[in-house]
Amino acid sequence: MSEMKKLYYRKRGEILVKNLKSRHFDAWYCENAEEALAKALELIPEGASVSWGGAMSAQQIGLQAALKDGNYAVIDRYAGQTQEERDQATKDAMFCDVYLTGANGLSLDGQMVNIDGTGNRVAATIFGPKTVLVIAGMNKVTDDLDSALKRARTVAAPMNQQRFQLPNPCTVTGTCADCKSETCICNQIVITRNCRPAGRIKFILVGEELGL
Ligand code: SF4
Repeated sequence: MSEMKKLYYRKRGEILVKNLKSRHFDAWYCENAEEALAKALELIPEGASVSWGGAMSAQQIGLQAALKDGNYAVIDRYAGQTQEERDQATKDAMFCDVYLTGANGLSLDGQMVNIDGTGNRVAATIFGPKTVLVIAGMNKVTDDLDSALKRARTVAAPMNQQRFQLPNPCTVTGTCADCKSETCICNQIVITRNCRPAGRIKFILVGEELGL
């Protein structure tokens, strides 16, 4: 990454950390994936039960791999052998100590937008796990809430659909058609604008391009 972009991300990151804190989130800015991984591991106590949903950025910094290698009670629904096991793990995740997730859009004034198909990820973000840890690359940050919503709907969701390849319009065109398909992945659109109890949701912002 160019020095100019690093500086640009750092300056916006500092503003965003301040604005997130004003909304009672905890927040840190890390220059790169390595720093972000160290910060995340510092925040997750050994022995904690940890799960995740829609946490591609956490995966990219190596967090899930480090947790699986370490002394943590990992609940990984993707490791389930049967649908029943995966469903149980999804339910268990709702009561874990630390839930990892990402952001589809993050406005510079400190509001997060997330879109969900099933709803488990946004549900866990809103209520349940003791702590929610959001790992987000600075590519997710937009100037205001409207542009964060737009990013989530027109960039993150159609890109995510390329992973799932469900029979939705954006799978074919790469463009959101505001569908009402049975297989639509945009069923819940959640804005998290303030944190209660204070500090339950923690952000690690990374000065790199991560996730979708
Ligand atoms: S076309 Fe449907 S599934 Fe695709 S991004 Fe738009 S609302 Fe979501």
